[in-house]
Amino acid sequence: MRKLRLIASFAAFIASGSAVALAEQGTTRITVLATGGTIAGAQAEEGGYGYKSGSFDIKDLISAVPNLDKLAIISGEQVVNIGSQDMNNEVWLTLARRVNEVVASPDTDAVLITHGTDTMEETSYFLSLVTKTTKPIIMVGSMRPATAISADGPSNLFNGVSAAINPGAVGRGVMVVLNDQIHYARNVAKLNTTDVQTFQSGNRGPAGLTNTGAITWFAMPEKKQGMTSEFSIDGLEQLPRVDILYGNAGMNADLIEAAVKLGAKGLVIAGVGDGNMTTPALDAITAAAKAGVVVVRSTRLPSGIVYRNNEVDDDALGLVASGELNPAKSRVLLMLALTRTTDVAAVQAMFNEY
Ligand code: ASP
Repeated sequence: MRKLRLIASFAAFIASGSAVALAEQGTTRITVLATGGTIAGAQAEEGGYGYKSGSFDIKDLISAVPNLDKLAIISGEQVVNIGSQDMNNEVWLTLARRVNEVVASPDTDAVLITHGTDTMEETSYFLSLVTKTTKPIIMVGSMRPATAISADGPSNLFNGVSAAINPGAVGRGVMVVLNDQIHYARNVAKLNTTDVQTFQSGNRGPAGLTNTGAITWFAMPEKKQGMTSEFSIDGLEQLPRVDILYGNAGMNADLIEAAVKLGAKGLVIAGVGDGNMTTPALDAITAAAKAGVVVVRSTRLPSGIVYRNNEVDDDALGLVASGELNPAKSRVLLMLALTRTTDVAAVQAMFNEY
């Protein structure tokens, strides 16, 4: 196995004296649950274009960050080793169960999850709704593979561990740490294909900042999360099928009708503007809603709120407005909502609360 390349500037920082002070903090017990992604990725040729996610395992990643073991007592396990483009409901359930097990143990003070960035906004939101703890759960990924020049994984790992051991992280739920920023699972979205500054919390802004281990926290999360949520994955074998359909000029009814025929219990429309869509699409989702499929109007736009009864008469048509939740997060919440109810008003209340 190829040895991970250490980043010169990062190593220089570690050698600069900060590590001495940080070494005194190393009593927090962190369980790392690794799932793969670019942070564990390797290029076919060092410095070359393209790479394969999930090439290194968790021990390689931890040992590649100088003095990480001095920040905290870190143990790790590999839950899966995949690119997060292959993340799915089954892995979410496995991962969430494992998180709930480890946080229930007095031997774990915080959890760090390594994960690809493509679907981190979905996994983090799912976990934030079903994990029952006030212990910090921090998710970390990277935009550049471990073998890249200026790989961002080591500093993201360092900052992730720094956030996890910080007392201010307690009670904030699941957070994503990347590129010196901390984001709440509910608010964060990946907005750029390749930039290291890809994660943003459009409407609300970040949960805090990290500067080579120093943490500044902003406001506490305002919405309900796992600790107080009605969602439970105990005994849950699978999640109900919810499909996302993308809105566009000229959108027709075909794919909406096909999704319903294929057994979707819920639909999310990534609508244009304020969760809008063509008249044929609106007619089709209204028919789906009448047939008992719960339909959420979200938006393909990266920020803003899908308002209820603004341009579309949700009350009359029996629809749910997603509020701040983008299509991917709306799908996560709708799947969990459907494990509890199919009542449209009750589902709308969940979209208001979570
Ligand atoms: N495709 C990768 C993944 O999500 C991208 C990344 O991790 O940045 O696993």
